[in-house]
Amino acid sequence: MKILKFGGTSVGSAERIKGLLDIINPQNRQIIVLSAVAGTTNALVEISQAYLAGDKDKASALINTLHDHYRTLISELFTSDEGRRNGEELIDYHFSLIASFSSKLFTPVEEKIILAQGELISTTLFHFHLTELGIRSKLLPALDFMKIDEDNEPKIDFIREHLNELLLQANDHNFFITQGYICRNAFGEIDNLRRGGSDYTASLIGAAIGADEIQIWTDIDGMHNNDPRIVKGTEPIAHLSFDEAAELAYFGAKILHPQSVFPAQRFNVPVRLLNTMAPNAAGTLISKDGMAKGIVRSIAAKDGITAIRIHSSRMLLAYGFLRRVFEVFERYKTPIDMITTSEVAVSLTIDDTKYLQEIEQELGDFGTVEIDRDQTIVCVVGDFGWDTHGYASRVLDAVKHIPVRMISYGGSNYNISLLLKTEDKVESLRSLHNRLF
Ligand code: ADP
Ligand code: ASP
Ligand code: MG
Repeated sequence: MKILKFGGTSVGSAERIKGLLDIINPQNRQIIVLSAVAGTTNALVEISQAYLAGDKDKASALINTLHDHYRTLISELFTSDEGRRNGEELIDYHFSLIASFSSKLFTPVEEKIILAQGELISTTLFHFHLTELGIRSKLLPALDFMKIDEDNEPKIDFIREHLNELLLQANDHNFFITQGYICRNAFGEIDNLRRGGSDYTASLIGAAIGADEIQIWTDIDGMHNNDPRIVKGTEPIAHLSFDEAAELAYFGAKILHPQSVFPAQRFNVPVRLLNTMAPNAAGTLISKDGMAKGIVRSIAAKDGITAIRIHSSRMLLAYGFLRRVFEVFERYKTPIDMITTSEVAVSLTIDDTKYLQEIEQELGDFGTVEIDRDQTIVCVVGDFGWDTHGYASRVLDAVKHIPVRMISYGGSNYNISLLLKTEDKVESLRSLHNRLF
């Protein structure tokens, strides 16, 4: 069984939805994971923000615009009266649900219900489209099997058990369709796997059922060696190891959701990144084999980082100090990305600032605390094991004209990370690209 995930642009218009059948062979046994139609989740975020702000007029104007967009899509997608009617009934249902929140109390629970509508619509439209063409397919409701726990971590055993049950019930089908991104949380409420989460859905499904392969179909021919939105002349990478791909995804390569490599890696399911606009391009294969030795593979950047420095003379020759610092972050369920230490200070970075104030206050018991916002982690991935040499100096040489706040090297064999001001990101990515490739 293969898992094929198509992102927002790959289902971005009636023409693109129709074009999926140039890529998908309906005879194969497969699960298709779809994102929302491009732009939809952003629009749903805006609608939710209008509700949260109590601006119902703005919310309903945004809802009408999005509804109209879908009316056009449906008129272009379906050829029969019945197909069009089914499509219209579907979007009328979802848009009246979205509009029904205007008169109610609006909390994050309602917000997540709204954010889920995009994937619910795209998958059902695709299913209706296939039905109109006489192709049998089965919709698998992600809300019946995709589950996260109280720490927002996916429950892989639950997913496996419930998904297998659904597949068994529909054992006269080969062609399955499900929603990316959406799930249920520990309270049974509708939730999501965070923005870009459809990649994570595909990886979790592939891992849970031991798929042969996970294919992530998007609008570019694989993982490039730098951010193509910022740097000119980037090139696709034919093969990455799970570790390399995980570092790149985690540290900002937008083509993959930050956590999406881990499930595939844990259950050793190869992942292919492929281009819907150029289906014959080789793309990128991510698998357990062969990390290329002695070369720089790729560069990525992650914005929205906050650096925290704790300076304390009590740290000198003290054991247990770092444990107490880490415990503060553990209490507030705030992951640390980078860390460096000296005799009397420790610097670390976080991207989730929900409890920053509380963390700052508790760390204040240990010493002086300095906070720097608007930082970016630039991550260079390659084979930098201790038996190689010269890479750290090449990386630092490339950014010698840029102030660097932190450097992390040696944590793993394949990552050199720099922390710098977000305003210096573009220049650092370009300069590293020119020097390293
Ligand atoms: P989808 O909607 O299919 O999930 P995304 O927009 O989430 O697509 O991801 C694809 C985009 O990621 C590309 O269009 C590209 O601009 C961006 N991107 C950022 N970094 C990289 C990289 N290193 N390699 C390839 N694409 C990247
Ligand atoms: N539709 C969701 C988003 O825009 C999930 C995804 O595209 O992967 O974030
Ligand atoms: Mg994406």
